[in-house]
Amino acid sequence: MTTTIAAAAPETTVEVHDPEVLAWAGDVLDRAADPRQMRQAVLDAVARNARWRGDECLNLLAPEAPMSPTVRGLLAAEVGQRAAEGHIGPANRWFAGTAHIDEIEALCVELLKRVFGARYADHRLVASMLGNLAVYTALTAPGDAIMSVTQPFGGHSSNRGDGPAGVRGLRIHDVPMDPVELEVDLEAFARTARTIQPKIVALGASMTLFPFPVARMAEIAGEWGGRIFFDGAHQLGLIGGGQFQDPLREGAAVLTGSAGKTFSGPQSGVIVWNDPALTGPLTDAIFPTLAATHQVNRVAALAAAAAEFLAFGREYMAQIVTNAQALAAALHERGVPMLAAHKGFTRTHQAIADVRAHGGGESVAFRLAKVNIITNKNLIPTDKPEDWNRPSGLRIGTTEVTRWGMQEPEMARIADLMVDVLAERRPVAAVKQDAIDLRRSFPVLQYCFPNNGLGGIYNTPCK
Ligand SMILES: *Cc1c(COP(=O)(O)O)cnc(C)c1O
Repeated sequence: MTTTIAAAAPETTVEVHDPEVLAWAGDVLDRAADPRQMRQAVLDAVARNARWRGDECLNLLAPEAPMSPTVRGLLAAEVGQRAAEGHIGPANRWFAGTAHIDEIEALCVELLKRVFGARYADHRLVASMLGNLAVYTALTAPGDAIMSVTQPFGGHSSNRGDGPAGVRGLRIHDVPMDPVELEVDLEAFARTARTIQPKIVALGASMTLFPFPVARMAEIAGEWGGRIFFDGAHQLGLIGGGQFQDPLREGAAVLTGSAGKTFSGPQSGVIVWNDPALTGPLTDAIFPTLAATHQVNRVAALAAAAAEFLAFGREYMAQIVTNAQALAAALHERGVPMLAAHKGFTRTHQAIADVRAHGGGESVAFRLAKVNIITNKNLIPTDKPEDWNRPSGLRIGTTEVTRWGMQEPEMARIADLMVDVLAERRPVAAVKQDAIDLRRSFPVLQYCFPNNGLGGIYNTPCK
């Protein structure tokens, strides 16, 4: 495939970002007396976000999770300025002076292995997106066929034509899904997959309500030496906490995931696998192909998050799922059409509403944000891929409100506030104040170690 890039006329501006917001920033910088004031403008914007999103919002964005104060503090650690390309150990580094960095990274790797019960783990992925590219780099050649989940069923660009799988030049086919059950149509899969014989079947879903039949799919793909790649970006925490399926044990060859979604660590990627034959190809794809300076402050934060997970993961993740089920049920009882109502709504941190009757996902997400309830628009199976920008669904996640300590009664309260907005039955200002009050009545982060005595950047209230 060749792409021709035509030269733009010199006077044309090509800008993907919103010109109004860029103009606002240009204006702020123009009005600043000096660079110090420019810096202040950055600090002010950060403070505005911390106040609003941090202290006054009910954040129900499924890909978000609050880090513990310790994990967040580690992101500002001294080690974040150090360079440590290569593998762990003095003989494997290009740079000298990495003795303690080796310790941090080795602790991270060993902690990840324990959380996921895996023989191998890697800590160097600055994004889960890059973990997926590492998998395709290691396990496929350009032109190979793969199968992955389409976007209306929750599939993510990283396993489709517009992401790493496309960049690798793979031929991408769809994993057949059942639009009512929201699970893989196994019969159709067996038929299609036997014809296509994909090298990889990628099970990745950003909208995720139910487990994949990994064992059966791995058996089928095994007929021609195909492998299951479980992209558990969203479910990583649920998997580590034993509250979802266990892809590696069910037959997936490799599991990737986002450390900053349910896993509640620093935004970045995790990859684990068991087969020693994959260690060479996967780690070669990570270094030197996709990672160089890999942010050792982030690695330290990831290690601390993994330790927290060993202590609290099971209980924390179980409550997330309970809350998602409670919130979905509460919305359903209040007349909001919820996906998979006939089968208990969800087995993850997510609940999906069909908000077509209320103006569609985008309009509803913006209206909810006006009352400090943060969600996102989402494609659902009845949407066409070309409707990607005006989807009918609303995705709701319970990771953050759970970590603030909210439980089933608060889920009913949140459902009330959401329906206040959808039905326009109370003034926006009143609903917003209620959302702020609810958030403020849960000021202490749960499922983390008391951090008394750590001091400094680590010293925020934590139970
Ligand atoms: C979020 C997501 C990714 C990308 O993960 P990042 O950590 O944001 O890079 C990949 N796959 C799926 C299914 C996702 O939901």
